[in-house]
Amino acid sequence: MPVPAPRLNLAERLYLPEVLRGVGVTTRHFVRNLTLHTLHLFGLAKNRSAAVTTQYPEERKVYSDGYRGAHRLTLKPDGAVRCTACFLCATACPAKCIHIEAGEHPDPEVEKFPVRYEIDTLQCIYCGMCVEACPCDAIRMDTYVHPKIWGYVREDFIETKQVLMGRSRVLAEHGRDALMGDMLRGYREDEAAAAEGR
Ligand code: SF4
Ligand code: SF4
Repeated sequence: MPVPAPRLNLAERLYLPEVLRGVGVTTRHFVRNLTLHTLHLFGLAKNRSAAVTTQYPEERKVYSDGYRGAHRLTLKPDGAVRCTACFLCATACPAKCIHIEAGEHPDPEVEKFPVRYEIDTLQCIYCGMCVEACPCDAIRMDTYVHPKIWGYVREDFIETKQVLMGRSRVLAEHGRDALMGDMLRGYREDEAAAAEGR
């Protein structure tokens, strides 16, 4: 049964009072925080905390152990992709954002491998179902790195097999901080390229 739309009163239908109310709330918080931060500079009102913004990605909160970061495709000891293109992750994915193209592997011991493996991170809801579904631990979300938050076109948010495998390589060789460093470098390069194009 359809849910009836909420009825708006006259003030809500005029919008302006609500807009002014919103501006009032924002201004109140702005003035409060500015005052408290200024007082803190002089060692006053230390017992009253002011809001602070975490300067992500340069600054990061401590993530919990269960934090689901950006995906990565795990590697075999010889550096090849562990994925066998079985499509279980794509089938389990509720957002239908994993796209795999399977190919015959030249090694007769390996049945299949992903010629193409892509995740559309604009559609992904970071539920972790793909990780749960994988029978061979070929996909993980243990990077502690946020997915890409910067881009101009949809393609910027599609993570390819190379990107997903590259994360495993950086992680194994240089650790999580290097992975974050790589991401920041990517942002800065994108930013510089965008500024040049202006
Ligand atoms: S985290 Fe969830 S939505 Fe994202 S790719 Fe995996 S299964 Fe799909
Ligand atoms: S990541 Fe795992 S579940 Fe997905 S296709 Fe590869 S082997 Fe199958």
